[in-house]
Amino acid sequence: MLPRRKTRAVTLGDDRVGRITIGGGAPVSVQSMTSGYTHDIDACVAEIQKLSTAGADIVRVAVPEKKDTAALREIIARVNVPIVADVHFHFQRALEAIDAGVHKIRLNPGNISDRAQVKEVIQACKARRIPIRIGVNEGSIVERRDKQKRLKELGGVFSNQKHGHFLAIMVTKLEEYLEIFHEEDFHDIVISAKSIDPLLVIDAYKAISERFDYPLHLGVTHAGPRETGTIRSVVPLGHLLADGIGDSIRISYASDPVYEVQDGLEMLYCLGLRTRVGAELIACPTCGRIQVDLYKLVQDVRRELAKDIHLPIKVAVMGCVVNGPGECEGADIAIFAGDRRGIIYVQGEKVANVPEENILEALLNECRAFQAKVQDGQAKLGEKKVDVLPPDPIGELGSGWEKIQRGKSSVPLPVTR
Ligand code: SF4
Repeated sequence: MLPRRKTRAVTLGDDRVGRITIGGGAPVSVQSMTSGYTHDIDACVAEIQKLSTAGADIVRVAVPEKKDTAALREIIARVNVPIVADVHFHFQRALEAIDAGVHKIRLNPGNISDRAQVKEVIQACKARRIPIRIGVNEGSIVERRDKQKRLKELGGVFSNQKHGHFLAIMVTKLEEYLEIFHEEDFHDIVISAKSIDPLLVIDAYKAISERFDYPLHLGVTHAGPRETGTIRSVVPLGHLLADGIGDSIRISYASDPVYEVQDGLEMLYCLGLRTRVGAELIACPTCGRIQVDLYKLVQDVRRELAKDIHLPIKVAVMGCVVNGPGECEGADIAIFAGDRRGIIYVQGEKVANVPEENILEALLNECRAFQAKVQDGQAKLGEKKVDVLPPDPIGELGSGWEKIQRGKSSVPLPVTR
């Protein structure tokens, strides 16, 4: 387990939707945000449920208008996950959301800065024991209304080191904002400091984690489509998490937010920061030795495992006998493909040799049967009963060494199937 930075603990939720703790050593939580209109109640509820089913611990909704906060009471009553109201510009939306029973408020110091208004929100949250996330964003941190101030700040930002100055502005604004909360003796706080620049994200969270002991919500804002946003998000977030920084995450894509949840969870599984739910799939990248349609097989296996397998069973799908045994050593269920066929192993034991068209079904049957055995206490995850013995590539797989031999000699060997 990676060592984690010590922080205060902030808890949100209630008896009905359950409670999630952020910080204080709790597992790193995964958040996402709905992409539709909050006032479209049925669609919003459906989207929240979809995110919750995908594994989101907390879901945030936008409340730009009064009709959005007016919808919150019904939405909250119909979902089974804590809801955060994302508030910008209008502090009244925060008060309305709190009144509707929301579980957490997100405020942006860049657009709700009036001390009296912020204090009103703090007092309302205090009365209901609702935490507040102070979400600083690079895009809104520089003063926009006061032109003189903006020019001065931007001059500072771009005159020398972009990161250093931006960082200074982010931390200063955060400190100024936190003063208001401390004056009200309010500490139920989570902090975020997002940017589109992965390096600024790393620097900002490191700087903040050295100054404050509040839990941190990590994210790269406006990371782009999933194809490029994954790398832009996972590089800084993975770096920070591996360093023990970060108590909650949101990956943000210009795409279906379900991917944000799936990719966020996968990152946490990879870092050992969450216990995996469902199978772990290992697959070879394929090469010139491949003799089955492995890309399709891997996608089919992935899709079907997600439906039926709830335990963290390790499944390896390997294209040939060359690296198969080594890669399959740690897998519970493994398949080595050969010439249009595949041999299936369960914890090192060879259990089936099937033609390509039956691989998927046979592999899934073994996974389901193995899961049942684990649930009944007849098998244990990660236990290797016997060493993986590579299949006979000529007889059983109809390929492998045959190809290798053919490479050595100009005389083709007879086909064995
Ligand atoms: S397992 Fe075989 S097919 Fe897959 S990449 Fe390795 S050598 Fe190539």
